[in-house]
Amino acid sequence: MSTKGIVKGIVSNLVTVQADGPVAENEICYILSGGTRLMAEVIKVNGDKASVQVFESTRGLKVGDQVEFEGKMLEISLGPGLLSSVYDGLQNNLATMESVFLKRGEYTDPLDREKLWDFTPLVKPGDKVSAADWLAQVKEGWLPHKIMVPFSFKGIFTVKSIKEAGQYKVDEVIAVLGNDAGEDVPVTMVQKWPVKLAVKAYREKPRPNRIMETGVRVIDSFNPIAEGGTGFIPGPFGCGKTVLQHAIAKQGDADVIVMAACGERANEVVEIFTEFPELIDPHTGRRLMERTTIICNTSNMPVAAREASVYTAMTICEYYRAMGLKCLLLADSTSRWAQALREMSNRMEELPGADAFPVDLSAIISNFYSRAGMVVLNNGQTGAVTFIGTVSPAGGNLKEPVTESTKKAARCFYALEQNRADQKRYPAVGPLESYSKYLDYPEIIEYLDKTVEPGWTGKVHTAKNLVRRGKEASEQINILGDDGVPMSYHINFWKSELIDFVILQQDAFDTIDALCPMERQRYMLDLVLEICKKDFEFEDFEKCREFFKNLINQLRQMNYSAWQSEQFYSYNDSVKKLIA
Ligand code: ADP
Ligand code: MG
Repeated sequence: MSTKGIVKGIVSNLVTVQADGPVAENEICYILSGGTRLMAEVIKVNGDKASVQVFESTRGLKVGDQVEFEGKMLEISLGPGLLSSVYDGLQNNLATMESVFLKRGEYTDPLDREKLWDFTPLVKPGDKVSAADWLAQVKEGWLPHKIMVPFSFKGIFTVKSIKEAGQYKVDEVIAVLGNDAGEDVPVTMVQKWPVKLAVKAYREKPRPNRIMETGVRVIDSFNPIAEGGTGFIPGPFGCGKTVLQHAIAKQGDADVIVMAACGERANEVVEIFTEFPELIDPHTGRRLMERTTIICNTSNMPVAAREASVYTAMTICEYYRAMGLKCLLLADSTSRWAQALREMSNRMEELPGADAFPVDLSAIISNFYSRAGMVVLNNGQTGAVTFIGTVSPAGGNLKEPVTESTKKAARCFYALEQNRADQKRYPAVGPLESYSKYLDYPEIIEYLDKTVEPGWTGKVHTAKNLVRRGKEASEQINILGDDGVPMSYHINFWKSELIDFVILQQDAFDTIDALCPMERQRYMLDLVLEICKKDFEFEDFEKCREFFKNLINQLRQMNYSAWQSEQFYSYNDSVKKLIA
């Protein structure tokens, strides 16, 4: 007998229920109200009273309404067809609907039950298997989608039978597994998993040992993110968080991309809806959407659905990681997620932490970030989930709790600066405040030595120091005036401008400049550092400015020219002449 209950109190989306049996935190329940069934999640249990957050508008809900507890946590369905889908946080399929907004109490099927998939078995009767082992493979777009032993299965199973190669629907039994107790367990292509529990379907989770290229210079060259690494992008409104995240989504070296558009303004979400399906994958020339899943929640959807969306997105990534794939998870913005936590915590009248966020905000954020990572699967292959979230601190204040908590959890910090955005120095990532802790990992240093060039990290530090020196020089020039400082200050300032304009700035809307491969990044940084090594002499600061402006102009033309094209080399030649 499952537990039932009665609504005792309603504060916006927070409903108090008196239960007639055991109830667990994070358990799902349905409230029966005026002919609809509204999904809700238990967030706190106190004696026979449960506080539940309703995933929809509670309009019309009354004290005395019936509640049915499900005895399980919020789950999503995992199987072929997740890619190219657009879901809300509860995995309702939005693409099959007429509008972005579901009717209340309406839940749609996340997977296409009728579609036939090209199926190839990977095991044979008699083989021993356990949770997450690969039983078969279907073709999802151009990716090999592994049909796995459900993650929830415990112990060793013997394959009793497996379907032969052919075309099957997701709900067909494709294998029968025998367990220790001598029972036969049927397996289909779909399994369910509770989103708030990390999928631990791997042998070990070593430290990341290679970088994930994004084609964005300020990331790859200056503050690289590891494959299986974590990073975040804080920045005030309009400084380019979404543009930068979309650039990473389009260009990141990953097999699978999951975008969680979490609580941003509705028009931004609609943009993703309309823009993403049109995008062409620069790596394969195919539609980017073929390997993308989008999870959407706009700021006008209830907070609880917003909270679920980041977990749903992470679970989908973990599922594809278990297939040995490289996944990239992007969440925009995690501040909206934290605000959802705050709203619920405040409604429950919990003792508030800083800025009224829940006291365990830091732990919640850390737990979430820790689900990313590179893993070694039971079969020895590797998979990765790389996670980059944006944070929108109110008023650009980086001392607020969400930014501070995220800083503790994420290893890369890409701080977007208002003054850089105002000067149109895009992407507005601050070169001195931002960092990548991966630059200190011996594994990563070695990887960069091998794949980019020997001593690469040393060059990156040199470039950063030149930017720092340039900033100091510019402060002195501002105080003492152009004529009040020695010429070396002007030269230092212009060397840092050179790095800024040629390496750090990048036009996300130019087809050539937007994506800068690592080989090209290496060439440009080497060239710029070679220039910076020179001892220049000028008659006066105006000559100095004129010289560097001209030089920067030629170098930028190189960025806009196709890599190693005639045009590229002709600008390269004029640069060489200028510095001769
Ligand atoms: P946020 O998400 O931080 O509110 P957006 O990502 O929407 O900000 O960026 C705001 C605007 O800034 C964009 O519409 C675009 O005009 C400009 N912008 C941001 N990044 C770049 C870039 N890399 N290249 C060119 N323009 C950019
Ligand atoms: Mg934005």
